[in-house]
Amino acid sequence: MDGYLRAGRIASEVRERARKKYHVGSTLFEICESVESQIREKGAEPAFPVNTSLNEIAAHYTAEPNDQITVKEGDILKIDIGVHVDGYIADTAVTVCYDPKYGLMVKAAEAALAEAVRMARINTKASDIGKVIEGIITKMGYKPIQNLSGHSLQQYVIHAGKSIPNIWTFGSSFGLLGTEAYAIEPFATTKDGLGIVRDGKVKNIFGITSRKPSKDSDADRLLEHIWAKYKTLPFALRWLTKDYEEARLRSLIETLLKKKNVHAYPILVEGNGRMVVQAEHTIIPNESGATVITG
Ligand code: MN
Ligand code: MN
Repeated sequence: MDGYLRAGRIASEVRERARKKYHVGSTLFEICESVESQIREKGAEPAFPVNTSLNEIAAHYTAEPNDQITVKEGDILKIDIGVHVDGYIADTAVTVCYDPKYGLMVKAAEAALAEAVRMARINTKASDIGKVIEGIITKMGYKPIQNLSGHSLQQYVIHAGKSIPNIWTFGSSFGLLGTEAYAIEPFATTKDGLGIVRDGKVKNIFGITSRKPSKDSDADRLLEHIWAKYKTLPFALRWLTKDYEEARLRSLIETLLKKKNVHAYPILVEGNGRMVVQAEHTIIPNESGATVITG
């Protein structure tokens, strides 16, 4: 619990700073590096590369080394932050919006999250949380993204197997435990959105799947270097360019991808190309409510 609380407090402080900052004119590289260095300065580590997903990209975009993509007026930027202390992970996100016509959509995701957090306690059914999230987003005139969901968390594991849906789902569900942490993360799009995300072409977040030697000695050295630093947690190429020249790094990662030692997470894009917003907290349920560790 102590690791979760420390990670949560740091994630919350960094998120609030990101919420208040004016990002127009900054590159995604600057935003990612700045948020991650704040996490490290506070004595924790990023649990995954900061996600800076713009507009119709719902999730899983992090800056490439020296990424020059710049936030501009009219953009909607989801900043999704993971912090870990000894592997105990706090996962939280904020949407900053530079187009006033989407301000209410941001509020819809935030209102859905607030109500989900308010109802969560030991034995709350995950399907009931999904129903409430869908109800609030729909009532406010928007559409939840149905194939993105919250998740249980375990030490060093971000997606630990259980899903907290953002819609009402048929069939059996599970009740929340007091011994587990859960991320709840409503995503919303406009009514003319598909409400479903698809994999995009871009992949710039990676994770180790196997440490079985690839038989390429340079690639294996890189694999062990990554393992020593990040274990099974996701990583970005930006995090490795201090030790490896970029072109060389890309070719070694290509080898590790081919040998299935490493996998890549594609960006997730709204099916009709519509704008997407997100809000997220990590909670630990108790008998009377839940501790919002990122609150
Ligand atoms: Mn997140
Ligand atoms: Mn999450």
